[in-house]
Amino acid sequence: MAEFSIERTETPTSAEQRQALMVDPKFGRVFTDHMAVIRYTDEKGWHDARIVPRQPLQIDPASTVLHYGQEIFEGLKAYRGKGGAVTLFRPEANAARFAASARRLSMAELPEDLFLGSIKALLKVDHDWVPTNPEQSLYLRPFMISNEVFLGVKRANEYLFVVLASPVGGYFSGNGSIPVWVSEQYTRAAPGGTGEAKCGGNYASSLLPQQEATDHGCSQVLFLDARERRFIDEMGGMNVMFVRKDGSVVTPPLGGTILRGITRDSIIRLGREMGLKMVEEPLAIDDVFRDAESGEITEAFACGTAALISPIGEFRREAGTVAFGDGKTAGPVTMKLRNALCALQRGEEADSFGWVH
Ligand code: PMP
Repeated sequence: MAEFSIERTETPTSAEQRQALMVDPKFGRVFTDHMAVIRYTDEKGWHDARIVPRQPLQIDPASTVLHYGQEIFEGLKAYRGKGGAVTLFRPEANAARFAASARRLSMAELPEDLFLGSIKALLKVDHDWVPTNPEQSLYLRPFMISNEVFLGVKRANEYLFVVLASPVGGYFSGNGSIPVWVSEQYTRAAPGGTGEAKCGGNYASSLLPQQEATDHGCSQVLFLDARERRFIDEMGGMNVMFVRKDGSVVTPPLGGTILRGITRDSIIRLGREMGLKMVEEPLAIDDVFRDAESGEITEAFACGTAALISPIGEFRREAGTVAFGDGKTAGPVTMKLRNALCALQRGEEADSFGWVH
């Protein structure tokens, strides 16, 4: 593992201040005292790995990321398990996806040991920020930008990798089921595009449809395939699953246009171990409306690191609305999967998968 030099802040947050900040941190507004930084140049490769006080970055206005958007990121959580131990859930899967995103954006690939090493080094310095409240966790945000000073469209020869940490509560305010807007006008990712990469540009283009969702009283947007706008892809920041009357759980297959969610993959594997029938197959939006209406589909939920497993109450689109179950409460299969995944992530359940660090 790479050696990280450590420069501690001279003005650390006091224990009392930290406690006050963590009463209700919400999502992504509170940050720890430090951050991890590693630099890359074609000449030197990865170098200068440091833990430093959290501070603004100095970027030249001609830095390529500001013009051509070579930016990728990841999101994972550190949990405070029983007995106070700090655990990570499948961080090597995030490292692998980060490398895959880098390849798609033609950026320098960060080796897995540096990805994991930066997170562990940051957690060593900021471990007091991992919440003890079981409803909270420490969200980790590794990201990378191209940082060459050049106004030309080409792969950059300089990159900056940074990890931020942020104590968080639930992603959605309120505890109930979320209403979801089906975007029929805008799409998120075309075949051959960057849908499978976790790059900032995908999220930039999701903000207008996300606003449309908000205007319709929805907390998330659901995207359909770019070719026919017929099949369900995923939501703005999470994957989607449905439960049929026979108890089977169905989710759209990975085809290059949707993010390979680590929560999605974990639920599929966990569900199979629990004896559930887990199916990956294309789901036409009209069929989902019809089947939810008839009671053939009984539950729907969103899944992702930030959202965990969040029940979906209803889908709304221009032509009308359909509810899943009673439209208010989480169904039994959703809750069963949610409880099993939470227990595993927090180290409360024996981990037969080898997922918990
Ligand atoms: N889809 C999108 C578009 C996302 O941004 C996320 C969150 N990373 C997910 C799915 C869920 O992925 P994961 O379970 O790895 O957090």
